[in-house]
Amino acid sequence: MSAPTRSHLSDRAAGVRQSAVRDVFDIAMDPSLVSLAGGNPWLSGLPLEELGAAAARLVAQEGTTSLQYGPGQGTERMRQAACTVMAADGLPGADPDLVVVTPGSQAAIDTACRAFANPGDVVVVEDPTFVGALTSFTTWQLDAVATPTDEHGLVPAALDATLTRLRSEGRRVAFLYTIPSFANPSGLLLPEDRRDEVAEMCARHDVLIVEDNPYGQIAFDGAPLAPIAARHRERTVYLGTMSKIFSPGVRVGWALVPAALKREFYLCAESAFIHASTTSQMLATAFVEEFDWQGHVREVTGLYRARARALQTAVDEHWRPGFEYTAPRGGFFLWGRLPPGVDTVELMRAGIEAGAVFVPGAAFTPVEGMHSTLRLAYSFVDEDTLVEGVRRLAPVVQAAVESAERRRPTPSPLSRKAP
Ligand code: PMP
Repeated sequence: MSAPTRSHLSDRAAGVRQSAVRDVFDIAMDPSLVSLAGGNPWLSGLPLEELGAAAARLVAQEGTTSLQYGPGQGTERMRQAACTVMAADGLPGADPDLVVVTPGSQAAIDTACRAFANPGDVVVVEDPTFVGALTSFTTWQLDAVATPTDEHGLVPAALDATLTRLRSEGRRVAFLYTIPSFANPSGLLLPEDRRDEVAEMCARHDVLIVEDNPYGQIAFDGAPLAPIAARHRERTVYLGTMSKIFSPGVRVGWALVPAALKREFYLCAESAFIHASTTSQMLATAFVEEFDWQGHVREVTGLYRARARALQTAVDEHWRPGFEYTAPRGGFFLWGRLPPGVDTVELMRAGIEAGAVFVPGAAFTPVEGMHSTLRLAYSFVDEDTLVEGVRRLAPVVQAAVESAERRRPTPSPLSRKAP
């Protein structure tokens, strides 16, 4: 029998590309490179010995439960623990009965597509947005349509215009996918009044919101801003995760779903993965119930703040002029922009030769074409290494900026403004 060919692939699988980010993650494993690529949380501050004892107990003493199938919606205690975490996110009083536990929030995004979208539907996104969500939208054969943002994130009036246009074109909008707090990759924080305006706009157009909030508690100055779901629960599917405040390896996240949609959401989740790992849910529950988890979040937030500041100082010193960025106020990422004409995919290749790697902006946008943006992750690398990475990239950045300037057409005398 001959080997299978691409004709055996479904249309949706044939349309999936390995993302530039995944390519970069493979390369970023090379220990000789400084990686400013992956948004990994820093785990060394976790109480590993005590967590190990808790894990041993879960198997040795509670193995007949922890190693067994569990409820499809997630264990009751994990759903309670999710409500405890959401209260700290600024979303108090969530009903554990409306929580569906998933293997990370990536699986919740995928379940949202499964539950709410038909092939050919539109998902409205901010631009740039999370690459894992874009990949999910592609596999579900959805059109990610970007709506304009400014330095504060989504622009409500522009969202109104986008939704009006899509309606006039007869498109079905499955949902708005948004990351209002310290977004990946932009780092932007949507102000409180805009959160309400965005929800009101979506209500006016009868569009569901999928609010993804892995970074809300990683706030550098002050308490987290209340999520959109806090005041607009009926319109919003809220996604949370243990990945950034505890561990991405346990693969535990969840969705808080409006009551009217919960049953179908959870059946869609069950059809994909039955349920999130029982052992992992029990370990994540132990972290919330038995450990000073908020102390851990405070500690890592302080660390990420210091790393973000060190990175900013380094790019100010080594990449200016030419490199513009938004100073992060939380989260894991610094998003920056080089002059038009710089292709950051090319820059990334040259950067790898120079010994450091970042993710080019093209990975995070549904808009084709050349991009001069890039994402630097500061969450996983200590301050000296961050500075070293920026120093290694400095000559490459400078060469790319100079070459773009040389290629830029000089304005003709006729188009020059009179003095
Ligand atoms: N959403 C966003 C915005 C993210 O940045 C990430 C992880 N990088 C995820 C979802 C997926 O996280 P999880 O580990 O919970 O699946």
